[in-house]
Amino acid sequence: QQTTYKPLTLITPTAAMSPAVHGGRAKCLQRLIRLDMPVPVTVALSFDAVHEAAIGNLPDMDELLAPFGDAPLLSVRPSSQDPDWGGPGAILNVGMNDARYVELINWLGEETATKLYMRFVQSYAIHVARLDPDEFHMPDQADAKGLKAMMATFEYETDMPFPQDVETQLAEVLRSMARAWDGTTARLLRQAKGAPADAGLGLVVQAMASGTGQGECGQGVVQFVDSVTGQPKIIGRYVSSHLAATREIGRETEGAIYLTRDTRGPSLEDLCPDQFAQLISYGDLCRKRLREEMEIKFTLQDGALRILDAVRVQRSSRASVRIAVALAEDQIIPREEAVMRVEPAALSELLHRQVDPQAARDVIVRGIAASPGAASGRIVLTASEAQASAARGEPCVLVRRETTPEDIRGMHAASAVLTMRGGVTSHAAVIGRGLGLPCVVGASDLVIDRKSGRITGADGRSFAVGETITVDGTTGQVLVGEPKMLEAALDGAFQTLLDWADDFRDIGVRANADTPADAQTAANFAAEGIGLCRTEHMFFEGDRLGVMREMIFAEESDDRRAVLDRLLPMQRADFQALFEIMAGKSVCVRLFDPPLHEFLPSDKAGLRDLAEQVALPLPEVTERVHALAEYNPMLGMRGVRLGIALPEIYDMQARAIFEAMVAVGQKGVAISAEIMIPLVSAMREVELIKSRVDAVAHAVRAKSRIDLDYRLGVMVETPRACLRAHDIAEHADFLSFGTNDLTQMTYGLSRDDAGRFMSSYVQQGVYAEDPFHTLDIEGVGELIALGAERGRTSRPDVVLSICGEHGGSRAAIAFCREKGFDYVSCSPFRVPVARLTAAQLAL
Ligand code: PEP
Ligand code: MG
Repeated sequence: QQTTYKPLTLITPTAAMSPAVHGGRAKCLQRLIRLDMPVPVTVALSFDAVHEAAIGNLPDMDELLAPFGDAPLLSVRPSSQDPDWGGPGAILNVGMNDARYVELINWLGEETATKLYMRFVQSYAIHVARLDPDEFHMPDQADAKGLKAMMATFEYETDMPFPQDVETQLAEVLRSMARAWDGTTARLLRQAKGAPADAGLGLVVQAMASGTGQGECGQGVVQFVDSVTGQPKIIGRYVSSHLAATREIGRETEGAIYLTRDTRGPSLEDLCPDQFAQLISYGDLCRKRLREEMEIKFTLQDGALRILDAVRVQRSSRASVRIAVALAEDQIIPREEAVMRVEPAALSELLHRQVDPQAARDVIVRGIAASPGAASGRIVLTASEAQASAARGEPCVLVRRETTPEDIRGMHAASAVLTMRGGVTSHAAVIGRGLGLPCVVGASDLVIDRKSGRITGADGRSFAVGETITVDGTTGQVLVGEPKMLEAALDGAFQTLLDWADDFRDIGVRANADTPADAQTAANFAAEGIGLCRTEHMFFEGDRLGVMREMIFAEESDDRRAVLDRLLPMQRADFQALFEIMAGKSVCVRLFDPPLHEFLPSDKAGLRDLAEQVALPLPEVTERVHALAEYNPMLGMRGVRLGIALPEIYDMQARAIFEAMVAVGQKGVAISAEIMIPLVSAMREVELIKSRVDAVAHAVRAKSRIDLDYRLGVMVETPRACLRAHDIAEHADFLSFGTNDLTQMTYGLSRDDAGRFMSSYVQQGVYAEDPFHTLDIEGVGELIALGAERGRTSRPDVVLSICGEHGGSRAAIAFCREKGFDYVSCSPFRVPVARLTAAQLAL
C-alpha cells in the first residue's frame, strides 16, 4: 500500500515522512523528535509543495501558520534529499516587525534589538526581495536612525513599505527559496555533487526558540569530533543574548563564549552546567541512534534547551576514516558499513601532503593532475640542476617540456615535477606516481625558456630559476610560492579500515615497484607482492648508464657478455634488496623493455662524452647512434624483440634474479619469483626466451644446489598476444595484461603524443574519456576478456592479472573481478585505494 504524503506535515514522531518526499533535514528532525529531544514546533513542506510554490501556488498559509500560535517568529531552512546537495540559505526571524522590535528593546536593549531587526530587513531585502546588496550594508553602529534609513531604502526600491505581517513575509520567503532552487547556478552546483536533474527541495518552517525571559537565552552549535582529525573533541560556539545585551564580551563576537570550561573567559559549561550536560547526552544519543557524528544547532530559551537541527559533521578525508572506524569499533555500525562509508579517492589524499584547503591559491598554470600530493620547491630546468639542488638540501621542482629516462635521477632528486607535454601515462606521470612525487603534466600553456632561465604561466607572469613554486598533483594546478600544507596521515584508523577491507575483498592487490624504495612503500601499504618491476630504470642509476652504453657499442656477443658481467652484480644487488623487502611474497620481474636508443645521448655534448667513454672517434659514435635510431621506436626493437636479438641481456637478468634468490634463500628469506617477458606477439618468442631462462636457472641450481621457485609468464600488451593467448599460455604460467601498451596499440594511439588532442577528442565526445586514464572496457576490455578466455582454454589455472596504469582504478578492478582475475597491480601509493575499492566492490 502506498503512503500518501500531504503538502504540509506537522513533524511528530508518527507523521508520514520520507527523505525522498520531505528531504533529509526534515526527516532528521523527525528522528530527533522520536529520540525525545526538545525540538521546537516544525512544519515540513514536501518537494511537491515547494515546486508548486515556485510557480506561484503557495500552500494554505492558515494551515501552515496554525501550529505556531499568535505572532510567531519563524525560521525557514532548506531540506534537500541529500544534505550535500545544498539549497538556499536559511532565513531567520520571519515575523519580525515594529511591534516585536519594541518588545525586544525592553528586553535586550536598543542596540541589540535594532541590530536584530536590521539583520532581518537586510536578509529579506537581499534574498527575498532580491535588492542590491550594496544598498543594504549593516552600519557599524546599529541605531534607530540606521534602521529608519534601511526601511526607507526598502520602500524606495520596492514601492512598498516593509511588510509587517507574518503571512506576507513567510509567503515571500517560501516563494523566493523555492525559486532559488530552480536557478541555473544552484542546479549546476548540485548536479556537480551527483544530484539528479529533477532533484526536489523541501523546506522546514520552525518556531524560533528565542524567548524573552529572564533566564539564559542564546544560540549555539556544537559537534563532538574535530572536523580535521576526526578525534573526539567538543567544538562549537554559543552566543548569549544576555551577554551581548549587557556587553559582557566573551570573545571577538559580542556575547560569544566558550562551550567548555576555559581559563580565558566565561563558558556555557560554567554558565549552564545542567543544560551543557544535557547537550552532551544528546550528542551521544545522535551518534548512537543516528549512527553518525552530527553537528547540533541549539538554543537556550529562558534557560531551557531546545534542539533546532542536526546535520552530518563536515569532515576532512582523514576525519572521515577516523569517524567511520570509531563508529564500528563502538559497535554502532558494522565493519562492512565503515568500509563502505569512506570514499577510496579520499584515501589517496591522506597518503600525500596536500595544500591546506583553507590556503589561498595563486595559480600560474594548470595541467593534468598526474600524481597526487603537493610539494613546493625552487624552479630547476634540468635533471642535473635538480641533483645539485638536492645536494644542497634545497627542495626543487623539476620543470621540463617532457621527461625522458635520462631525467630519472633528476626526478628522484626533485620534490615535484611539472611538464609541458604528456598525458597520464607519459614517462613523467608513471615515474611520478611510482615515486609518490607530486606531478602535473601537459601544462600546455606553460612556456619554458632555457636560455633566459624563466618559465611563463598562462597569464603571462614569468618566474626565474630559483624562485619557489608549488605543484599540486591532486588538482593539476601550479601555484606561486609556498602555500600552507597538510601533512600525510597514516594513522591507526587508516590501517584498521584497510585491514577490515582486506577481510571483505576477493581479488589480490599488488604493486608496481621498481626500486627498493618503491618496494618499501608497497610493503608499508600491505601490497601482496610486486606485480610489475620494470627493470630498465635500474640501468640509469649511478655509473650503470656508462656500462649500458658500452654494452650497446659492443660489436660481438662475447664483448657484450663481458660488459654485462659488470652489470650483473649491481642487478643482483637490486633484486636482492627487493626480495628482502618483499620476503615471503611474490615478485614479478619484467625483463628489459625499452628501445636501446633511450640510453644514448641526443645532443652534441652528450655524443662527445660518449665518444670519450667508449674510446671511439666522434664521427663513428655519431653514426652508430644514428643507426640505432628508429622511426617508430615504441613499435621497434624493444621488449622481447631485443631479448631475442641480443640474448645476452636477458641471460644476465635471469642470472641476476636466480643468484639473488640463492643469496636471500641462504639468509632464510623465501621468495616466489616470477619472470615476465614484455611485448610478446608470437608464441615462438616465449618458447625461445623460456628455454634460455630455464637453462640459466639450471646452471645456477647446479652450482648452488638450491632449488629455485620461479615461474615464467608473459606480459600481454599487443593485440596479437590477446588473440593468440591460447598458444602463448602453453608456455606461460601467468598472463599479465599491460594495458598501457595494449591501449596504445588497440587504438593505434601514441601514449606519449595523445595528450595534444585528447582534450578536444573528449570534449567532442569522440572518446568518452581518455583511454589511458580510464580503461576502455568496450574495446581494450574486449581484447583482455578474449585473451583471458583463450589463455584459460590451454591452461585452465593460468594466473591472470592487470598491471598497466589502470590497475588501481575502480573500473579496472570491477572488470578484473568480473572476469575472475587473480590480482591487479598498481603504483604503490594506489595500493590502499585499490584495497578499499576492491572491498567495496565485493560488499
Ligand atoms: C604497459 O604497457 O601496460 C605496462 C605496464 O608497461 P610499460 O608502461 O612499462 O610499457
Ligand atoms: Mg608496456
